[in-house]
Amino acid sequence: MVQTQTFQQATNGANTELESHNVKIGLEIHIPIKTKQKLFCDCPTNYYEISEPNVSVCPVCTGMPGIKPYPINSEGLESVVMLAKLLNCKINEKIFVKRKHYNYPDLPSGYQRTSEPLGVDGNLNNIGIWEVHIEEDPGKYDLNYKRVDYNRSGTVLAEIVSAPDMHSPEEARNFLKELINLVKYTNRTVEVGGVMRADVNVSIEGGARVEIKNVNSIKGMVKALKYEILRQKNLKSVGGEAKMETRGYDENQMVTVPMRTKETADDYRYLPDPDIPPIYLKEISEKIVLPETPRSRTKRLISEYGIRDDYADILVRNKEIADIFEEIVSHDKFMAEISSSWICGEVLRQLNYRDMEWNDEKNKLNKKILSDLFVLLANNSITENTGKKILERVIDSGELPCDIVEKENLRIESNDDVLEGIINDVLAKNQKAVQDYKAGNKSSVNFLVGQIMRNTKGKADNKKVMEILERKLG
Ligand SMILES: [Zn+2]
Repeated sequence: MVQTQTFQQATNGANTELESHNVKIGLEIHIPIKTKQKLFCDCPTNYYEISEPNVSVCPVCTGMPGIKPYPINSEGLESVVMLAKLLNCKINEKIFVKRKHYNYPDLPSGYQRTSEPLGVDGNLNNIGIWEVHIEEDPGKYDLNYKRVDYNRSGTVLAEIVSAPDMHSPEEARNFLKELINLVKYTNRTVEVGGVMRADVNVSIEGGARVEIKNVNSIKGMVKALKYEILRQKNLKSVGGEAKMETRGYDENQMVTVPMRTKETADDYRYLPDPDIPPIYLKEISEKIVLPETPRSRTKRLISEYGIRDDYADILVRNKEIADIFEEIVSHDKFMAEISSSWICGEVLRQLNYRDMEWNDEKNKLNKKILSDLFVLLANNSITENTGKKILERVIDSGELPCDIVEKENLRIESNDDVLEGIINDVLAKNQKAVQDYKAGNKSSVNFLVGQIMRNTKGKADNKKVMEILERKLG
């Protein structure tokens, strides 16, 4: 009964209740790692670029009987150790690779090679990281057509397991955003088709832990969590109890649906892989040079470009945006102030208003468009008002701001004679506002400025308008 509620029914007006319910959320995040070859063979890894199935395969990654794996891919291993270090994990000295058994068409050998934790006991801000390990990605099984493609089989995955330290969908969202951003700073992940896939564990009031499988976007995760918390809460309210199980998230219906009763570790029959010698991590870990992180980049942006602390802090939270900012201002540091304030102000505000992330495919902004707009503003060629209107339009259209300005004659009006003519006209037509102003009602000047802007379609140079007005009103 409860399970067939729609998302809307289940969540209507209930957001505040979500948090009060002693919720515990933990995440297992799978991140595809960029390498030239697969984890245990030398097949290419560009499965996301090729449409023909089963061409990047060999006997190893299709699990042919009796075939031995190659030595573990050191590039992939190093990347995952780097991730573990960035998450403040303690790096283990010696680990084994295990076989995790389960039967599904995407896994030809019947087991997935997955390592013992490379790192343990880390954290990201206040959220604990239980472990980070490396494993093989399975192939892709198309349930509708019953076809399987092993191009992805055996490529490198990092798995990050958080402690169940999050207590609301919003907290989980913030953690995941921050984690994905940090991961991007390594430049070692595959970013095509989203950076990650996650399994989400959630329980309320010490009840059984329910796992939601294969959530592949932050928005999807938040919706799945909101639904699942309410489902469990509703079960409790009628005297029921959530059971330990694995559920899938149905993006279209926005509900979670039962998949199977969750395997325990025993069901996977973990065995050390006899074909793979133990792996020693001390030397690898010591050689790793950590990349710049959001925190170190904040400091550098402030010292290198002299921008405001809070702007630097906002920029680094989204690596793509910080990259664009630096590309725009690297040739011309005088652009730093206007670029940072516009990106952190109007640009993010307008994206937010549309419920869009920077890397949303509907967002048409890019470095060229923004830098063009900022140059127009910096040169005082257009007013702020005009800038905002242009921005609003080019987010969706992808036009170049300078083209719009030329085509529609939007350059700033700062010619004294022209402005004076318009102002005289406005004052003559609005004698009451003029009298009010002279009688001490200073705010009526806003009305007059509004009229002047209307008559110039927002193009009047604000500073000059104020000068002329002050002179005329005495
Ligand atoms: Zn292969």
